Amino acid sequence: MITQRSFEREDERAQMVARQLQTRGIDDPRVLAAMLAVPRHRFMPANVAGRAYADGAQPIGHGVTISQPYIVALMTQLAELEAGETVLEIGTGSGYQAAVLAELGATVYTIERIAALARRAEATLHELGYANVEVRHADGYAGWPERAPFDAILLTAAPPKLPEALTDQLALGGRLVAPVGSDLGWQQLIVIEREQDALVRKKVLDVAFVPMLPGTISD
Ligand code: SAH
Repeated sequence: MITQRSFEREDERAQMVARQLQTRGIDDPRVLAAMLAVPRHRFMPANVAGRAYADGAQPIGHGVTISQPYIVALMTQLAELEAGETVLEIGTGSGYQAAVLAELGATVYTIERIAALARRAEATLHELGYANVEVRHADGYAGWPERAPFDAILLTAAPPKLPEALTDQLALGGRLVAPVGSDLGWQQLIVIEREQDALVRKKVLDVAFVPMLPGTISD
């Protein structure tokens, strides 16, 4: 959990929680508290940080975006994480979603394919005092077998179809939340739960994420 709480721009976060999240049905008090606590602007480059609490995704460089606050909150709520559980995130990006998951007391493993983003996210998370997040520069298509199984898995980049390596790393009773689809404009946000002998799949809503691409980019 965060060690040095920042009250910077807290009024804007409170408005974001009330207007963008509660009105759309985010009602888990722990998720709302996490969204109020994490200083989203600190995860964004200076040229867009002014828009940190606006109701939309924002560009963070390298052709990728930090997701809309509502989508971050929704995916977090759908993951139904308890303190002490472990979660795998594919697509670290800015590190913001990872910080929100860490606020719930989960141990977070997060993978990013672009080295520069992985490094920057790691530095931001460290500066803000998140000790329960591990960032790895790798291709998320393989998951993180050494740390599996995970109580929850979140994909914040969209694969054309769900990679089996990832569902294989889901614990019994675990939840996987992901945008899936090959259409670059829209994908479906789905939740998959691993039950005794089946994967149960539910569709939540249409979303627009950046694609999950194979391979890594170093510099
Ligand atoms: N969760 C992020 C938003 C991520 S945008 C945040 O809170 O800011 C999606 C990210 O997924 C991008 O940074 C992109 O580089 C990354 N990505 C795409 N394909 C990937 C893959 N195969 N493995 C790991 N990361 C991937």
